[in-house]
Amino acid sequence: ASESEEKDLVIIGGGVAGYVAAIKAGQSGLKVACIEKRGSLGGTCLNVGCIPSKSLLNNSHLYHQILHDTKHRGITVGEVKIDIAQMMKAKESSVTGLTKGIEFLFKKNNVEYIKGTGAFQDEHTVAVNLIDGGETTVRGKNIFISTGSEATPFPGLTIDEKKVITSTGAIALQEIPKKMVVIGGGIIGLEMGSVWSRLGSEVTVVEFLGQIGGPGMDAEISKQIQKMLTKQGMKFKLNTKVTQGDDSGESVKVNVEAAKGGKEEVLDADVVLVAIGRRPYTAGLGLENIGLETDEKGRIVIDQEYRTKIPHIRAIGDVTFGPMLAHKAEEEGVAAVEYLTKGYGHVNYGAIPSVMYTHPEVAWVGQNEQELKAANVKYRVGTFPFSANSRAKTNLDTEGLVKFISDAETDRILGIHIIGPNAGEMIAEGTLALEYGASSEGKPTNNYKLSTLLIITLDVARTSHAHPTLSEAFKEAAMATYDKAIHY
Ligand code: FAD
Ligand code: NAD
Repeated sequence: ASESEEKDLVIIGGGVAGYVAAIKAGQSGLKVACIEKRGSLGGTCLNVGCIPSKSLLNNSHLYHQILHDTKHRGITVGEVKIDIAQMMKAKESSVTGLTKGIEFLFKKNNVEYIKGTGAFQDEHTVAVNLIDGGETTVRGKNIFISTGSEATPFPGLTIDEKKVITSTGAIALQEIPKKMVVIGGGIIGLEMGSVWSRLGSEVTVVEFLGQIGGPGMDAEISKQIQKMLTKQGMKFKLNTKVTQGDDSGESVKVNVEAAKGGKEEVLDADVVLVAIGRRPYTAGLGLENIGLETDEKGRIVIDQEYRTKIPHIRAIGDVTFGPMLAHKAEEEGVAAVEYLTKGYGHVNYGAIPSVMYTHPEVAWVGQNEQELKAANVKYRVGTFPFSANSRAKTNLDTEGLVKFISDAETDRILGIHIIGPNAGEMIAEGTLALEYGASSEGKPTNNYKLSTLLIITLDVARTSHAHPTLSEAFKEAAMATYDKAIHY
């Protein structure tokens, strides 16, 4: 890095928020540098999050399906074996392919990539402790903080990523544990719990609340997916808290009791996965040198244009407010650069989809029933089960449903919740519908002129969906919201 030249934009953290902002800034003609300490771009998501976990989810699902779901399809298989080392290699090749791809995109878009740890020296200067040794400083007219998040530790248990692990250990185990206890039944607990349960571990999930799935999941959907995962072999202890843990012996012991108090029980496990949430990461960033503080949850406080109280310093992604999701970080990366270059940007926080990549997948966008009840909103619900969908039937994969929630008066879609194969792809249609302010039906009119003028009048249930596809269930759930579905 050159010490003399001042950049238009310096970005600290090359995760999804940071690398996307860097590429967008390069494309917009800004002189931009991105500092990343990991030695690899893409952050948590590409290196130890979204990508490696989805590789393991996909391949463990295949293995599980070959073991349990072939005979009735007319396929006889011989001896099926698992090769964990190869499964991990396959995962690593997906990760490296993608992280190297970002390095290429940096070059293509004139982004300077600085490998090292950045810390604020003053409001315009970042000191970088270089990975290859030595130090440098970079000056920026503007600076983005996109340092991401880290796993929240569990008091009393020491993370060694072997016996007591976070998701980072859970994507890298070399052996299949006989017994695994997962503390926290949120997205990480259920995704990583699924992987190891499919490969043969006896997995018990301990969740403090009365439902699994983490924040935002509709309560009815949560109950249903819990049943499905239970059928697959996972065990659940809800309304249960872990009171203490002991990792001094060969196995790990965790004491659990009813959240409201009750009899204590000791669970014994080869591996304990701590998955109780993530917290913003700003350690060593030197925020104190520029007088920036974080809130009670460790988040960097920003305004609607992602500005901290020092206006040329912005924060995006997991390190600030909002859901800790890669696509949210990505949207913010683009929007923050647009605020900088054009003075305006756009992220619709009401239409950010969530997907849990279990089998079946769970996906949702917008509000759930419990949120709407709490806000006293009158709504209608329409559901359609995949057991009545022709494609799901041909695939012999019929668990799950599509659930539409729309405003009782205006029919405007308020939320869409799906459990089903490929729910994560299907929710894109729901997100688009929500983004466009669509209704479940829309009122047909016999006035042709009016209907072409008001293109929003005919919405989801009156849009043709190809047959036979899973997305017909989406259309039929929309129909069921104001009238009756045809096939159920
Ligand atoms: P990060 O990706 O955490 O990137 C921050 C980067 O900053 C890191 O690479 C870090 O090394 C670097 N950094 C920190 N401090 C400094 C410093 N001082 N100097 C230089 N560099 C620094 N989200 C989804 O949407 N879909 C998924 O399927 C999904 N799966 C996940 C699975 C797991 C197991 C985990 C843990 C997370 C998953 N997430 C998923 C969440 C997703 O990974 C995050 O929301 C996303 O990575 C946030 O991006 P970010 O850029 O804000 O932060
Ligand atoms: P989470 O917030 O989704 O779930 C944590 C769960 O742990 C909650 O259900 C909570 O009630 C429970 N919990 C908290 N303290 C507990 C305790 N002491 N005992 C028992 N249960 C306790 O967090 P996570 O699963 O750790 O995931 C972290 C972040 O990563 C989330 O923001 C998530 O969105 C993101 N992520 C997303 C994906 C995806 O999009 N597919 C995948 C993995 C992670």
